[in-house]
Amino acid sequence: VIGLVIARRGRLTLGSLDVVDAVRECWLIGDQVATVPAPAAVIRRLELGEYAPARWASVLATEVGEHDVVLAASPDGRDLAARLAERLGRELMAGCLEVSAAQATMPVFGGATTVRHDVTGPFVATVQATTRPEPAVGLVAAGESLDSADTHDVVVEAVLEPDLESLDLADARRIVAGGAGLDRPSNFDLLAKVGAALGAAAGATRVITDRGWVPPRRQIGTTGTTVSPELYLAFGISGAVQHTAGLGSPNHIVSVNTDPACPMSQMADLAVVADAAGTLAALLERTGG
Ligand SMILES: Cc1cc2nc3c(=O)[nH]c(=O)nc-3n(C[C@H](O)[C@H](O)[C@H](O)COP(=O)(O)OP(=O)(O)OC[C@H]3O[C@@H](n4cnc5c(N)ncnc54)[C@H](O)[C@@H]3O)c2cc1C
Repeated sequence: VIGLVIARRGRLTLGSLDVVDAVRECWLIGDQVATVPAPAAVIRRLELGEYAPARWASVLATEVGEHDVVLAASPDGRDLAARLAERLGRELMAGCLEVSAAQATMPVFGGATTVRHDVTGPFVATVQATTRPEPAVGLVAAGESLDSADTHDVVVEAVLEPDLESLDLADARRIVAGGAGLDRPSNFDLLAKVGAALGAAAGATRVITDRGWVPPRRQIGTTGTTVSPELYLAFGISGAVQHTAGLGSPNHIVSVNTDPACPMSQMADLAVVADAAGTLAALLERTGG
């Protein structure tokens, strides 16, 4: 089993260490790979240029041979894994918790339990991304450069600064999230404005996405997105386990809730006992929104 760890512009991407944890030997693939400080499990470096999953998949399909392949269940990993599995004509096992040449463990029923699958043939798998600090550093080895003319990737016209509205929550360093304590849809506009002022993406609990107040892609938790922010600001969120299980381990959690004993406030670094919407309005005023 070989892990594929993705680098972009000389930096490891989200979930890299999950791949390193899952398998013993990895290849570092991507652009500017020769200079990336990488974990010792990296035994090969492949320079593939800018991230282009279709082109990369066509190159990798000729390189991986009979190896089973494991990538991170990150946005980049998921995209590449699907294309590589299609290229190789292999089964894709998505979102595994553990994987080996013989077995894969996967979550079911919204993460309430897990099942084990016996693996029957060569596969491509993704392992779930969890929260980690910047990856540890180690060996620096010379890279190999591979190229392919066979490309079906989009042409990149420009790379824009992340738009907080559309930024994948899993990539957000700061998140403001709202729950049932925010009481009405208009308070989620307020939440988004405060988020924009703080450079934070806006998320929500399932109660809120079920009500249709914000789109499902904004839901954090076992049946939503797993996030890994440095700062998590929770407004009117009780902290049910299905929500907090998707939180990873933020460096700082702030909970604004009228109930000081709720789990979210109990796990917070700073628990503010106050009305969530009122606090948002005051924050917006202070941040000049
Ligand atoms: C299989 C399954 C999967 C699930 N997956 C997810 C998931 O992925 N993500 C998720 O979030 N949930 C998920 N849930 C739902 C989860 O169990 C909780 O119901 C949900 O997270 C609670 O959302 P909440 O905190 O917004 O609401 P509540 O639990 O109702 O909490 C509201 C909070 O607001 C506070 N409050 C009330 N008024 C105010 C005020 N004026 N100011 C400040 N605070 C106030 C209350 O004290 C309370 O703590 C799942 C449930 C199941 C069964």
